[in-house]
Parts: sequence; structure tokens; C-alpha cells
Amino acid sequence: MNPNAKITDEQFEAYLKQIRELVEGPFDEMQKEIEVTNKFPEEFYELAKKNDLYRFYLPSQYGGWDLNELEILRVQEEFSRGPGGMRMHLHHAADMNWRILDDYGQQEVKDELMPLFQDKSVYCNFAITEQTGGTGADIHTTAEKQPDGSWILNGEKWLISHTDCSDYTYVIAVSDPTKEKDDRLSAFLVPNDAPGFEIVEMPHMMGCRGAGHAGLRFTNVKLEPKYLLGKEGQGMEVAIHSLSVSRVHIAMSNLGMAQRMLELSLKRANDRITFGKPIATRQMIKAKIADMQMMIHVLRTAIYDFARDYDIDPKNDYITEKAAICKLFSIDTVKRVSDEMLEIFGGDGYFEDSPYGPTERLYRDCRAMWLEEGAPNVQRITIARECQNKDGKVVYNF
Ligand SMILES: Cc1cc2nc3c(=O)[nH]c(=O)nc-3n(C[C@H](O)[C@H](O)[C@H](O)COP(=O)(O)OP(=O)(O)OC[C@H]3O[C@@H](n4cnc5c(N)ncnc54)[C@H](O)[C@@H]3O)c2cc1C
Repeated sequence: MNPNAKITDEQFEAYLKQIRELVEGPFDEMQKEIEVTNKFPEEFYELAKKNDLYRFYLPSQYGGWDLNELEILRVQEEFSRGPGGMRMHLHHAADMNWRILDDYGQQEVKDELMPLFQDKSVYCNFAITEQTGGTGADIHTTAEKQPDGSWILNGEKWLISHTDCSDYTYVIAVSDPTKEKDDRLSAFLVPNDAPGFEIVEMPHMMGCRGAGHAGLRFTNVKLEPKYLLGKEGQGMEVAIHSLSVSRVHIAMSNLGMAQRMLELSLKRANDRITFGKPIATRQMIKAKIADMQMMIHVLRTAIYDFARDYDIDPKNDYITEKAAICKLFSIDTVKRVSDEMLEIFGGDGYFEDSPYGPTERLYRDCRAMWLEEGAPNVQRITIARECQNKDGKVVYNF
């Protein structure tokens, strides 16, 4: 435990238990209706507030508990066992939502907004992806600087999460088309009630229902100079720096889901009798269980290694590479574990309302992780670049 944390070891362990009971009880129950409405009820936000889910990750100066990275990740594992859309909302709340403003915001805006994150009086989503462009720097939204220092934003964003519960959006846009590649880009905090800011509806997703996915359209949105994040031309750095840590939180989300799938599979394998014996006694089922546990264990150790590095030095040289490794491996893990779960459950696992738990929903929910915050190829590009730059060397803090 961080010796300076605002809660004790015992309180922290009790908190983890409280969150597991919340997500596998009231949240799972609430999700049944959200699967149809695709919208969180007010009760969800109220319960999240009451259970400190907008606070636990913040530094104490903003009303938080001063937990270290490993402790924050352990809370994330617990809430990731619940519905995917809620996991997405809470994961983003704990990450880019406040971190981008804290790291890159101008003091005037920080003074106004940073104290408001602790009870979701403010929530900021993140928009880089465009329908008309590719992943990363292939961006066409423009931010044109005006003589008085303000900016005019025009363009669109696509596949954006949390559009229905956000007050501001972090937007990456082209601020100087005459520059090369990433230097063309700047990052902005855009008030969602600014004239010219529109939300464009999208169809329902395969899983993670309720997380407010939509497109955005900007038509001559005027931004005061105070809304520039970092410096002009620093847009890609703002995005990449913020995504690095967040990618490990995605990996932890996959771990939380995979761990629950393993536990459900173990119960089912013990109960299910075929040809006079529980299937758990069959060697081919044991092989599946072994493979699931192996991948979960290796993923956990990779995430804990990242957390240890981060707690020693959040700017260490391996943050980006190890974060991408965690995320890439976590996709393979949850992919394998969810497939094995479905095979162990047999036909019953393909139906809603299993008495064991939401197997069918977990299977759908986890598939968003292939794409969320960068597809596997993007992680591979990052890992290869960092690996080549460092001649394959990796440093460990144990
Ligand atoms: C549930 C969900 C939530 C999301 N939330 C957000 C959000 O809040 N904010 C946001 O900005 N975005 C969000 N996204 C978008 C997400 O980040 C992108 O879907 C993802 O990065 C992939 O980009 P794309 O969909 O444009 O795929 P494409 O760029 O069309 O890529 C398709 C495939 O081609 C590969 N590919 C593309 N270019 C290359 C290349 N140069 N080299 C090798 N392979 C390549 C990709 O890896 C991918 O496998 C969300 C997506 C989902 C599904």
C-alpha cells in the first residue's frame, strides 16, 4: 500500500470486496435493461458516486485517495468483472478523463475543473478517431488559429465513447497543415455545449451497451485560447502519453473479465455431469483450464511489472513499450479464455440468463477490447519501434 494513501490496508481490501459485490449484484442486474435501452439510468451514476468510483484514483489534492498505480489497477480488475459498458465508463473516468487536463491543461482551466472530477460534476471524453481517416495521425478535423488567439474547429469524429454523459471532449485536430506528420496536430478541450458542436447517433454495438457511443460534428466551433492543451504541435504527444497508461488499464479490464470467465467455467465444469462424471474430471477439459490459468497468470505478472515500474518512475523509458505489450497480450488472453469458456459451458453458455453468470454478455463485451484505444496492429507497431530503438533491451525492477 502507498504509505501516504488516505485509506488503510484493511479499508482498501474491504473496498475491493465492496466493488465486486456491487458489480456482480446491482450492476449486473441493472445491465439487463441497459442491453435494450443502451443507456445508463441515473441510478447507475448515483451508485458509482456513492461507491467512490469517481474518486479512488485521484490524488488527494483533487479529493482522491493517493493510491499507487498497482492499487488503482486492482480496483479496475474488480469493476471489470461487471458489465462491459459500465467498465468502459469507469475505466475512462479513472484515466484520460482527468489525466489529460491535469498533465496538459492551462492553469486557469485546471483551477476551475480539477476539483470537479471527484463526484463527476465534470466528465471529459476523448476523440481522435475519424470516419474519414485512419488510426492515429491520419486526421482531417482542423483547428484554425484566429488573430485574437482563439481557434475555429471544423470536422468530425467517429466511434466516440461517453458522448451522452460528458461535459467536455478532448479533441485532436490539425492546427498547422504546412508542418510534417505529427507536428501538424494540436489537442484541445472542447466544451460540449459550444455552438456548432453536434452529436451524431450511431447504431447499437455488439456489447458494452450503455457507454454512449456516437459520432461528433464540429461546425465553426469557437474555442478560447485557454482550451489549447499543451503547446501547438503537441497534439499527438498528448494523445500517446495519455493512451500509454490507459492501455494498461485496458489490459487490466481484460484480466478482470478473463478471471471471472475462468471462475464461472470452473464452477460449471464441476457441476456438469456427462456420461456419469463431471466434465471437470476429463483431461481435455483440464487442458483448457490449464491454458486459461496460464494466460491469466502471465498477463497478471506483466501488468504488475508495469505497475511496479510506473510507481518507481512514471516517466521511465519502458512505459510505452510495456503498456503496449500488456494490452496486446491481454487481447490474446481474453480471446482464448472467452472461447474456452464457451466450449466448457456448451450450448447453455450461448444463452442469456445463465444461472452461473452473464457468460453470453461477457463473450460479447470483451470483443470491444480488440479495438478500444488502438487495434492489435497498432500495439505491434509500437512494440517493434521501441524494441528496435533499444536493441531488444528491457529493464525490470525486481
Ligand atoms: C467500443 C469502442 C469504443 C471506442 N471509443 C473511442 C473513443 O472514445 N475515442 C476515439 O477516438 N476512438 C474510439 N474508438 C475507435 C477505436 O480507437 C478505433 O476503432 C481503433 O483504433 C481502430 O481504428 P479504426 O476503427 O479506424 O480502424 P482502421 O484504421 O480502419 O483499421 C482497420 C484494421 O486495419 C489495421 N490498420 C490500419 N492502418 C494500418 C497500418 N497503417 N498498418 C497496419 N495495419 C493497419 C488496423 O490495425 C485494424 O486492424 C472506439 C472503438 C470502439 C470499437
